[in-house]
Amino acid sequence: MNPRTRRNRLRRARKRIREARKAVPPRYKVIRGRLAKIVARIGSEIEALNEVIREQERAGLPDWLPLRYADEWRRPWTEKARGNADFKKLILKHGHLSPNFTLREASGKHRHRLGSDVPSHLIPNAQRHAFKLEIVRHELGDKPLPILSWYRDPDHNVAVGGAKDSRHLYADATDFSKETVDSFGAARFDAVMERVFADGGFGRYPSGSRHGDSRGRRARW
Ligand SMILES: [Zn+2]
Repeated sequence: MNPRTRRNRLRRARKRIREARKAVPPRYKVIRGRLAKIVARIGSEIEALNEVIREQERAGLPDWLPLRYADEWRRPWTEKARGNADFKKLILKHGHLSPNFTLREASGKHRHRLGSDVPSHLIPNAQRHAFKLEIVRHELGDKPLPILSWYRDPDHNVAVGGAKDSRHLYADATDFSKETVDSFGAARFDAVMERVFADGGFGRYPSGSRHGDSRGRRARW
């Protein structure tokens, strides 16, 4: 039940309760008194139920997220989430590229001394890529999907021996470690990557790690 429907139902229930109280003529004092007590009890039961529903609706959502975006937050792999510009703008304000991938994660600052903030003009790239990663994550069973490397500034890219025009410079590429790949099973991992990045880049390295990017055209290595 959506929140608006619930509010309307609640309003109607309160109205019915008031009507019930009025339905007994004033001369039946004792009955009116008893009825008032019963009505009050029903009223507090309804309130308690309402609180339970509200808690269920908010379960797993960040405090700052309006309830109207619950579906986008919980099902980020859907077109509904990916296509909702207002939702994407709002979560960015809170440091999220997508529900399960943060701007901080894209910067790499927490895992690499050469990590750096994603420049603002590249944030749309990073966000587009994050929503692709949400599909990968979902198809791999909705488990955490650790990132080995995401955005690299030019110095960082040179330092790690990245390709000259690497998509990591554009913030729409991620690498995954051999451990991550193996934890899902390499064949399964690769099949999902092939599908999700059908119109992007997908690379396998001798070390066992993988690369996926959202460059917008097919590339394989
Ligand atoms: Zn890469």
